[in-house]
Amino acid sequence: LEEQNHFRNEHGIKAVGRHIPNALRDFNELITKYNISRSMVEVLLQCGYSEPTPIQRQAIPCLLENRQIVACAPTGSGKTAAFLMPLLHMLGAPQGGPRALVLCPTRELANQIYREAIRLSASTQLRCSVIRSLKESKIKEREATIRKSDLVISTPNRLCYLLKQDTVGINMDKVQWLVIDEADKLFEGSQEEVDTFRQQLDVILSSCKSRLAMFSATHTPSIAKWARHNMRGLINITVGHRNA
Ligand code: ADP
Ligand code: MG
Repeated sequence: LEEQNHFRNEHGIKAVGRHIPNALRDFNELITKYNISRSMVEVLLQCGYSEPTPIQRQAIPCLLENRQIVACAPTGSGKTAAFLMPLLHMLGAPQGGPRALVLCPTRELANQIYREAIRLSASTQLRCSVIRSLKESKIKEREATIRKSDLVISTPNRLCYLLKQDTVGINMDKVQWLVIDEADKLFEGSQEEVDTFRQQLDVILSSCKSRLAMFSATHTPSIAKWARHNMRGLINITVGHRNA
């Protein structure tokens, strides 16, 4: 325990909660300790990721051990792979029908996350998709794509719009993990935006029985409060300064 604390300190990681999984020493531990396929770890190395970043060291083991987290780490510190790696591993073989869902505030960000998901899932057969424009003529197509996907990335608006269609054949029952990226932006807009987002979150969470993980660059009191009340067994992870 002492040694773990020392290791976390060295990497600027602060973790608060019960029975916190040990931080990763290196990506190889994913193979030896968590049974992640060698080919998936090799993809990381091919991407030029030789060492996990601090947030990856602590968030990856938490998600792999099914722990709900609120993670706060600076921009550019590798948060995307910190949630995509464990999600892609946990999805295992493709089944079709979303089992993991990533929500983020903008289309641009959704596209970036999608590109990283395509890169990191290269060694798997999994299908990842991002919900694009919702022109009336495209709705059927979008639904069909989602039904075939294992991992879906979207803004809350687009997903909720799709879920509200009368025709929907989208089933969210199988979603096991919901990740909210740049959660600070979604929890800290105008009052109206925040209310809308929370309603959307309720809709999504009530249509699936998923675990939740939130990532952001700033510490946000409204997230901390919401998480304390809504996330069982929560672990709070902070890397670097609390820049809020
Ligand atoms: P954040 O979401 O925290 O702002 P990103 O996930 O966008 O950060 O990652 C920032 C950059 O760091 C990206 O170019 C990504 O490819 C790269 N990156 C992620 N993880 C690692 C790693 N372990 N080693 C080296 N580069 C990494
Ligand atoms: Mg990011």
